[in-house]
Amino acid sequence: MPKTLIEPFRIKSIEPIRVTTREQRQGFLEEAHLNVFNLRAEDVLLDWLTDSGTGAMSAEQWAAIMRGDESYAGAPSFFRLQAVVREITGMAHLIPTHQGRAAEKILFTSACKSGQIVPNNCHFDTTRANLEYLGVDARDLVISEGLQPATIHPFKGNIDLARLEALLKAEGERIPFGMLTVTNNTGGGQPVSMANIRACSELLHAYGKPLVMDVCRFAENAMFIKLREPGFEHLSPLEIAQQMFSYADAATMSAKKDGMVNIGGFIVLRKDEWLERVRQLLILWEGYPTYGGLAGRDLDALAVGLKEGLNEDYLRYRLRTAEYLGEKLEALGIGFVKPTGGHAVYIDARTVLPDMPREHYPAWALCNALYIEGGIRGVEVGSVMFGKRLDDGSETYHSMELVRLAFPRRMYTQSHFDYAAEVIAEVKAAASSIRGVRIVKQPKQLRHFTSEFAWVD
Ligand SMILES: *Cc1c(COP(=O)(O)O)cnc(C)c1O
Repeated sequence: MPKTLIEPFRIKSIEPIRVTTREQRQGFLEEAHLNVFNLRAEDVLLDWLTDSGTGAMSAEQWAAIMRGDESYAGAPSFFRLQAVVREITGMAHLIPTHQGRAAEKILFTSACKSGQIVPNNCHFDTTRANLEYLGVDARDLVISEGLQPATIHPFKGNIDLARLEALLKAEGERIPFGMLTVTNNTGGGQPVSMANIRACSELLHAYGKPLVMDVCRFAENAMFIKLREPGFEHLSPLEIAQQMFSYADAATMSAKKDGMVNIGGFIVLRKDEWLERVRQLLILWEGYPTYGGLAGRDLDALAVGLKEGLNEDYLRYRLRTAEYLGEKLEALGIGFVKPTGGHAVYIDARTVLPDMPREHYPAWALCNALYIEGGIRGVEVGSVMFGKRLDDGSETYHSMELVRLAFPRRMYTQSHFDYAAEVIAEVKAAASSIRGVRIVKQPKQLRHFTSEFAWVD
């Protein structure tokens, strides 16, 4: 058997990558105030800013787009999607939304109120923001290994069941439901084991609380279970996903991830409990229940994408890409969050720039260097994203300085990853010439998106 795991697709329609020089990129980045969010996408060679909504659709999905029915109510597109979602989740009620955060806003507004607490392994940033907006305390209870980048554990996304039980005992009456995020995006795209999902569900149910899963990357999580959890090696990703969903009472989904589409999301509900309120808010904020915030064609593309996202050959290749880049980083002696997750690789910038003070934002500096050196756009997950400038002018810093390279689905091939590894090697070799940055302009919230920077002299 040949060892090379090939991309399980061939290319029918291409988008050219515009090749630029190092000098040009230096200029583009300076025009962008040293913030890669401000770059024009056509000035980027490998765009690894996010895996959200950026992937390539298949020929079958484009065919489904043409089948889409744009009737306001009762379109066949809705019923095709509903059949697929019911098959995967086993849940009766599908509520389509325009993306994941709309699903969160509608479900949370229906199911919780100010002063309550919602536990999760780790809340994704929009999940946390939507809960906090309602006055709800979003509590992260991931196992301690999930917070240690260099510690290897097969399921670093697991929730700490002892801490969950202690919280249920102490604050049970304030908890409307519990959550689990699969895979755990905030924690590096790390999976949750079936045993942990089952135990979390049983524990919540023992206290009369429903389990709501955030299932943006349910297919990647299912594949990790197949590869890593004894007893699941002979099941298909679909069968594993069905079992994962069997423990949940509801789920929110951003279809821009494992739905394999460029826009979309949904809520699924097993029971009627929240249904009426959810439907009312859906009509108020998104649209009529058989299209939510989407066009009929989007529903059809998603119906096909959900099944393609569970294809075993695709998932094997998908998880292998991150692992492959991880192996190259390991050979270069560069630290990263281990093991690699499903959708991204998180480089530990301190292992490339050990001498740069945190005041010069080493992960931001590394992110800039990757762009200048090779046109690669990643995102800083460090003290610009999670630190703050306080009213007295002092700064707070994040515990880790990471650069996330997130991979759009079915977009890049092995040579792109080989190229990236070479760029990273060159950046490391010239690390002493990498310049730190200071913030010259920043907003109060979510400052990484719009802050402006200058080089530190
Ligand atoms: C992307 C994401 C969301 C939010 O979905 P959007 O489609 O971006 O609104 C919620 N939770 C997780 C885990 C995500 O990765």
